[in-house]
Amino acid sequence: MANKKIIIIGGGVIGLGIGWQLAKAGTTVTIYERSQAGRAASWAAAGMLAPLAEAHSEEPELLKLGSQSLARYPQWVGELEADGGLSIGYRVEGTLIVGLEPDDTHQLRHLYTAQQDLGLNVEWLTGREAREIESVLSPRVTAAIRCATDYQVDNRLMVRALQRAYQVYGGVLHENSTIEKIVIENGTATGVQTQDGFQTADALILAAGCWSAQIEGLPDTIIPPVRPVKGQMLALQMEAGITVKNVIRTVRARYSTSVYLVPRTDGRLIVGATSEEMGFDTRLTAGGVFELLRGAWEAVPSVYELPILETWAGLRPGSRDNAPILGKTPVENLIYATGHYRNGILLTPITAYEIAKLILTGETSETIAPFQLDRFLRQ
Ligand SMILES: Cc1cc2nc3c(=O)[nH]c(=O)nc-3n(C[C@H](O)[C@H](O)[C@H](O)COP(=O)(O)OP(=O)(O)OC[C@H]3O[C@@H](n4cnc5c(N)ncnc54)[C@H](O)[C@@H]3O)c2cc1C
Repeated sequence: MANKKIIIIGGGVIGLGIGWQLAKAGTTVTIYERSQAGRAASWAAAGMLAPLAEAHSEEPELLKLGSQSLARYPQWVGELEADGGLSIGYRVEGTLIVGLEPDDTHQLRHLYTAQQDLGLNVEWLTGREAREIESVLSPRVTAAIRCATDYQVDNRLMVRALQRAYQVYGGVLHENSTIEKIVIENGTATGVQTQDGFQTADALILAAGCWSAQIEGLPDTIIPPVRPVKGQMLALQMEAGITVKNVIRTVRARYSTSVYLVPRTDGRLIVGATSEEMGFDTRLTAGGVFELLRGAWEAVPSVYELPILETWAGLRPGSRDNAPILGKTPVENLIYATGHYRNGILLTPITAYEIAKLILTGETSETIAPFQLDRFLRQ
């Protein structure tokens, strides 16, 4: 496929990541992005790389994929920083999941047991031990789980680096250019309908995040089961004496919402996130912002003093089983890379490397085989 023409629909981390790898391999790639590249979920995210903290016993395949993607991050960061020409804020201080009262400790213990059953590398800490690692934590913190290998990256820097790296290798990016329709003839995808007319392609990659189900032209049976899941977020400015080093996540059994705090190298402290089924609504609400601030303040009381820099909301591309939809479809030359839900930043390297390999070789690797669309078609 190296000499073939590839079209990617959507310029988020997934589209840009695949595009970069394909352009680097010498393929002719064009990305169509209906707005600005990387300004949707990929911009809104917190950038946590957290297969352990996000692990659920009913999602073992997803845990494996997340762990494999995290293992590829050092290679990814080195390659992307070299090609994109900027640091992407990859930090390896780890993650603390904290509980604030006895009920939370029970829930935390339950989570810890589940993590141990999955064989994960996690450590139980008393409140005092947690405060020795992160001194700004509230005296109310009763216990914590340390996920020392759950890292973070600055997703906004990653978007910028990906766009540059993609273009350095000759990738073409059309912004403000909506794909209106995927054109399928006799069971084969032949191109796309853009606002400037029909464009042919030897392969199409659908990477349109939570909008992936909205593009016309797909037979009903293969419309990817992806929907928007809203997340409200805000950023505070850390100041002298109030510096968070680790990613902190709270577990709240009652009354309060669980939140996370993600410290960036530039001094921003990201606080997130709500999880709401509100369709494509991205309005901030008083209740949402209140819950985030209250949750952050309960875990780290000194945030009370910090200036608010920014508030925003984004839409996670949630699939029916919370796992991404990757690889071939019943339509020839139509590839899906969508539905990354709450882990799309974590899963970018594995998605980019494996989908590029699929395009170049025609072979579906064992890594992504469990995540093909056909798992929904069998149900
Ligand atoms: C609040 C929040 C917090 C998150 N935190 C984390 C986290 O900590 N860690 C993590 O791993 N993940 C996190 N995520 C999830 C992660 O952001 C997503 O899974 C990931 O960004 C998905 O990338 P994407 O490229 O598929 O989608 P997007 O970034 O949404 O990109 C899709 C692109 O497709 C374009 N598009 C849509 N339709 C068309 C069309 N018809 N034609 C052309 N272009 C089109 C859109 O404009 C958009 O730019 C978070 C998400 C949110 C919202």
